[in-house]
Amino acid sequence: MIKRDRGYALVPRMLVTGGAGFLGSHLCDRLIKAGFDCICLDNFFTGQKKNIAHLLKNPFFELVRHDVTFPYYAEVDRIYNFACPASPPHYQYDPVQTTKTSVHGAINMLGLAKRLHARILQASTSEVYGDPVVHPQTEDYWGNVNPIGLRSCYDEGKRCAETLFFDYYRQNNVDIKIIRIFNTYGPRMHPDDGRVVSNFIMQALRGEDITIYGNGEQTRSFCYVDDLIDAVLLMMDSPAGFSGPVNIGNPGEFSMLELADKVLCLTGSSSKLVFRALPQDDPKQRKPDITLARNELGWSPKISLEDGLKETIAYFRGFL
Ligand code: NAD
Ligand code: UDP
Repeated sequence: MIKRDRGYALVPRMLVTGGAGFLGSHLCDRLIKAGFDCICLDNFFTGQKKNIAHLLKNPFFELVRHDVTFPYYAEVDRIYNFACPASPPHYQYDPVQTTKTSVHGAINMLGLAKRLHARILQASTSEVYGDPVVHPQTEDYWGNVNPIGLRSCYDEGKRCAETLFFDYYRQNNVDIKIIRIFNTYGPRMHPDDGRVVSNFIMQALRGEDITIYGNGEQTRSFCYVDDLIDAVLLMMDSPAGFSGPVNIGNPGEFSMLELADKVLCLTGSSSKLVFRALPQDDPKQRKPDITLARNELGWSPKISLEDGLKETIAYFRGFL
């Protein structure tokens, strides 16, 4: 990494795309806390200024309104590419833009990394496995993805981004890192985000019906945001030559009925469960095999679903 004399300190500069979003804002916090200079780039499609407002007065933090589908030039040492809506209702709102964000965004950020000889980390997703027939999912599983469904703009966009990352590595020797993130939750998720954890908690706190899609027996693994950010930082600092992709998630597996039960119990809510149609191509099961992350990064999640939900519920109470 280049060390720059900025007048008062030698500070490497980080670029976080999607930095005003849920995960990106926590990452900016941790980078600033670690003493780095941080550029947060966001077009505010799903991100919120509120998430990074507390950083705006910090001289090491810089906010840039920009869409990653257009080229961006700045001198940076490392790039964390997190720009992309992650919640199904949001990424399906403008599916063409979602694919462009993943694909053109990856090309623009990889081009920047190539020019600067900067290391670049891609926030990929468990969605690359689609509706998996291998369980739990290991990184060598190629997935079961519908290329023409409602989720494809996100799933195939992220798959193509992984392809681009590996081609820039093979063709141009770009220093790449890829993590495949499994469902992550915590404070700063948008209360109307549409994802299951925020939906269930807000519904429970407002005394509204809890919307279970399908029969609620589909499973997901939920990782608390602090655990996830630990893994992101470890992956970025991992030795050259280890590019991933590496699964990052909490291997605890819960059905949506079990999740609803936990949320009701922890909020003390008497909301009723109601059953709604299962969205198209909704994966039936999801659970990461994190052996690679344990071995290569020495990482495993520490925060239980119950503890993480308590923190998240406390945050969402602020919206009532
Ligand atoms: P989020 O929607 O809160 O954050 C995404 C951010 O990207 C937002 O601030 C949004 O405004 C910004 N953005 C979207 N399109 C953009 C564009 N074209 N140009 C610039 N900025 C743009 O979602 P999140 O949960 O924080 O997810 C962050 C990243 O992590 C995404 O790439 C997502 O695919 C990935 N991921 C998240 C999860 C999860 O469970 N949270 C799981 C797998 C992968
Ligand atoms: N889900 C649900 N009720 C909701 C929102 C989501 O039952 O109000 C289900 C959804 O069908 C899926 C699971 O919860 O099976 C996780 O959905 P989410 O949108 O959080 O993430 P993803 O499907 O991308 O893993």
